[in-house]
Order: sequence, then C-alpha cells, then structure tokens
Amino acid sequence: MARVFNFSAGPSILPEVVLKQAADEMLDYKGSGQSVMEMSHRSKVYDDIIKEAEKDLRDLMKIPANYKVLFLQGGASQQFAAIPMNLMKNGVADYIITGQWAKKAYQEAKKYGKANAIASSEDKTFSYIPDCSDLPISEDADYVYICHNNTIYGTAYKKLPNTKGKILVADMSSDILSQPVNVEDYGLIFFGVQKNVGPAGVVIVIIREDLIRDDLPDYVPTMLKYKTQADADSLYNTPPCYGIYICGLVFKWVKQMGGLSAMKAHNEKKAKILYDFLDQSEMFHGTVVKEDRSLMNVPFVTGNDELDAKFVKEATAAGFVNLKGHRSVGGMRASIYNAMPIEGVEKLVQFMKDFEANNK
Ligand SMILES: *Cc1c(COP(=O)(O)O)cnc(C)c1O
Repeated sequence: MARVFNFSAGPSILPEVVLKQAADEMLDYKGSGQSVMEMSHRSKVYDDIIKEAEKDLRDLMKIPANYKVLFLQGGASQQFAAIPMNLMKNGVADYIITGQWAKKAYQEAKKYGKANAIASSEDKTFSYIPDCSDLPISEDADYVYICHNNTIYGTAYKKLPNTKGKILVADMSSDILSQPVNVEDYGLIFFGVQKNVGPAGVVIVIIREDLIRDDLPDYVPTMLKYKTQADADSLYNTPPCYGIYICGLVFKWVKQMGGLSAMKAHNEKKAKILYDFLDQSEMFHGTVVKEDRSLMNVPFVTGNDELDAKFVKEATAAGFVNLKGHRSVGGMRASIYNAMPIEGVEKLVQFMKDFEANNK
C-alpha cells in the first residue's frame, strides 16, 4: 500500500494512525460487536463517543462552560444561513470580505436581513487581509463576521478586527485546531470538519449560551435553530454519527501531539520550510502579502500557465497530489493541515528545487 502526500484543500489528509484505528474498529467497536456506523445514536456506547468527542474538544480549545458545542450537519455552508437566522436580532450584520467563503456567507446573510460589507480585499484578488483596526461598524450590528483563514487565497488573520464591542463570528473551517484560540474573543465559532478534523458533512458550532434564542421568526427551520440543537445535546435527530466518531479520534490525536500550542509550533515549522523556499526561488512565487500568510494553505505560481501545468503533472506522478490551485487563483496550492507531516513538506520542497533546476 502506497500512501501519497496529499496536499488537498479539502476534504484533506487525516492522521494515518486515526485511519488505522478506524479500520481496526470497523467491524467491532470496543467489543460492541457493531461498527459505529451501525449503532443507535441513542445507545450508551454512542453516547460515550459523542460526549467524549465534546469533552476532548473542550479540553483542547479550553472552551468556557458558558459556551455550547453543537455537532451539526450541512457543512460550513449551511451555517452561512443559520448564523443570520439565529443571531440577527436587529436584522443587521457586518461582514469582512476576505475571500469566496466570506463572500458567500455575506450573500446568504442578505436574504435574512441587512448585511453590510464593511471591508474587502477583493480589489487585489483577496491577496491580503484589510486593516481592521477602525472599521465602520454599524451601530446596530448584531455581529461582525470574518473568515479566519482563507482556504482558497491563503491568507489568515494575525490580529482580530476591532469590532467596537460587537460580537465576533468566525468561520474557522480551515484552521481550527492549528493553533490556540481564545474562545472568549468570539460569540460564535464554526467549522466544517473536512479540512483539519474529519469527514465532510459534519459542522461544529461553538456558541456562547446567551446568543441561543428562543424568539426566532417562524420561518426558521426547526433543524437550523441553535436552540433545538442545544436543548437536545446535538441529538435532536440522527447526527452524522460516524463522522463525529472520526472527529473524536482526531481530537485524541491532537491531544497526543501535545495540544494546540504544540500544533502551532509544528505548523509554523512546516510553513516556514515552504515559504522560505518560495522567497528565494526564481521560478516559484507566493501569491499573498507576507504579513497575512496562512499556516495552512500556501498558493504559489510560476507565472507561466504551461509550466504550472507541467509542475502539477510531474508532482502528481511523483506522489505529491492535489496541488492544482483553485480556479480563481490558478497555479498551485499546497494545503499543509495538521496531519501533513514535516517530511511531506520537506520532500515537496526538494521536488520543487529539482523541478526548478531541470526547467531553467
Ligand atoms: C471548505 C470551506 C467552507 C465550505 O465548507 P462546506 O462544508 O463544503 O460547506 C466554508 N468555509 C471555509 C473557510 C472553508 O474552507
């Protein structure tokens, strides 16, 4: 069996030990005689799985007791609607547009109230994070929305926006668990799990309790009310049981790796190897401003479409897969999530060096 080095932006690489454990437990989960896929979500054995997953996530992120953790379905995109439906009390929210995911969230929010785009980096293909120190935050904004790590463009916030006292909501789909987070800086954090945590379809919402409302408009679907999900401990209906189980295994793995500070050190080390190479290469160039570089997603180009295509083709043949850039940026993108070992980045850089030497 040959595993490739998988640089996919999502769904993406998972820790090999987790996949092996899932394989070992596939037919008989801990003596239950069943696969996790087959068991009742109301059973004791499954209840232990979801409770333990929540506990481990709480430990890792040091989630305060006044925040709820919800395991939901519909991916991150479903939250683009759920957030305005649940949090817009005045019917107003401010969005900072740093890429396609933030833009999609903004466009969705417009269906439910007045969404304002208060800053954007679209003028330069989202290659930077706008200055967010003194934005025109709306007086009556119910929240300020950001996408914390921009998966497609490879930028990330190094400093949070000054929300002037308004609640901050963040999409952390592509950098969750990659570094420590001060949960109290946010009213709501959500992430689709398929970038850094588990199988696509599961989305996890961490929400401050006082933001969970009971007085929502009638049109809000029962399933999309945070109140429904919080009251039922994420078991209002059948949750994505197997996906949550894999998330739980990944949380244990991150703990074994030393938690979020250790994860950050590991990710900084990996990213540095790649960025240092890009900074001195004559052929390959990063596409975003240095101060705003993501630790997770690294887009780069040669400046020549044919050469880019040749690189992707040869890299794929050599076992470095899913390096083709997003269609809106072109070139290449290496996603180096938590589960990517240092060796994968070192070998990729060696491959890039060789490619550069051979294609001068
Ligand atoms: C991948 C991604 C999404 C979309 O996730 P889905 O689960 O496919 O809806 C949203 N936001 C960010 C930042 C992402 O990286």
